[in-house]
Amino acid sequence: MADPTDKWEDNVGGEADVEGSRHVFYVDRECILCSVCSDHAPANFRMSDDEDHDICFQQPRTAAELSDCRSAMANCPVEAIGDDG
Ligand code: SF4
Repeated sequence: MADPTDKWEDNVGGEADVEGSRHVFYVDRECILCSVCSDHAPANFRMSDDEDHDICFQQPRTAAELSDCRSAMANCPVEAIGDDG
């Protein structure tokens, strides 16, 4: 389970409000840079600028993006993605 006290500082800040539900997706330091999340949610997750790990660079703006983010979180092999919304 992802740890919000151990998340990468280069995740995007802010909070998403998608159809009345609030979300703050992030990647923590367990990330092994496998790219599963950016494959599932390319509008929301990508590799960090230093190419060391993935980050959430855009909180979900639509129900479709929220679904993609949830899919990314469910499929992360090391449970490095959290949602503090
Ligand atoms: S799916 Fe998980 S381990 Fe893989 S790049 Fe994304 S956050 Fe990192």
